Amino acid sequence: MSDSDRNYALALHGGAGAVAGRDYAAVEKHLAGLAGTCESWLADGRSALDVVERAVAELETSGLYVAGRGSAPNSAGYVELDASIMDGRSRKAGAVAALRDFISPVQVARGVMEKTPHVMLAGKGAVEFARSHQFAEVTSPNDYYVLPVGVTRDDLSDIAHGTVGAVALDTSGALAAATSTGGTFGKLEGRIGDTPLVGPGTWADDNVAISCTGTGEHIIRAGGAASIAFRFRSGISLPDAIREMLDEVKRLGGDAGVIAVTSSGDIAMPYNSEGMKRACVSTSTPLTVATFG
Ligand code: ASP
Repeated sequence: MSDSDRNYALALHGGAGAVAGRDYAAVEKHLAGLAGTCESWLADGRSALDVVERAVAELETSGLYVAGRGSAPNSAGYVELDASIMDGRSRKAGAVAALRDFISPVQVARGVMEKTPHVMLAGKGAVEFARSHQFAEVTSPNDYYVLPVGVTRDDLSDIAHGTVGAVALDTSGALAAATSTGGTFGKLEGRIGDTPLVGPGTWADDNVAISCTGTGEHIIRAGGAASIAFRFRSGISLPDAIREMLDEVKRLGGDAGVIAVTSSGDIAMPYNSEGMKRACVSTSTPLTVATFG
């Protein structure tokens, strides 16, 4: 079978923090355009790893989500960024946590994966690594970030927000996942959620690629993405495996959403929050974008 005969699949999310009654038309338009671009990359034979990295980098720089440019400041008044990426075939992974003032945390996370023997760098060490490898820096934080210091989630009536993620199956059969966030509103300085944690926030293996969004503390305590993958590997269907993890998040008092693609090209995008900004497309699924319903 040639590569071009094989399936590809892609799902994107812009966060499970969507609030009923708000207008997400601009976000949905952006997600639809990006999913279409990613589809053409996958159809051209680009690797799942490249596609999820590029997709998340675009989501980060758009300013439409609480990741990269759209991130909100922490309780100390500055932005700390978290991101992770994982390649299912090699099981290699990279992550950054509490990273300050780089344009694309997911690109730095991939740098950690490819240029160090480590999986995660945090804080000052992450900044020094990113600087030494010349990743693009935010030179004027006050001008770059969309949300000014002091803005809370309740003030955000006309600004879309949410962690971002991408999962993909490429035509060689490889899976990859990536997730990036500015974290939760009002978080303490140094707080790290599920997003940069390879396991809870992001996971990819030979069977499935998963990116989570929602209240990170609850996702971590519920096991998150890897716990879904392990259920799926043991023979539980993907919808049931995801539902069990989401039910556990709910039982613990949080809410969350998940995007997942399997090696067969199946896609799942369930959530138990009010809504989740999301898009998907595959060789057998037309491009779909939604926030609620
Ligand atoms: N999971 C992210 C965090 O806890 C937030 C989100 O997905 O909106 O940092």
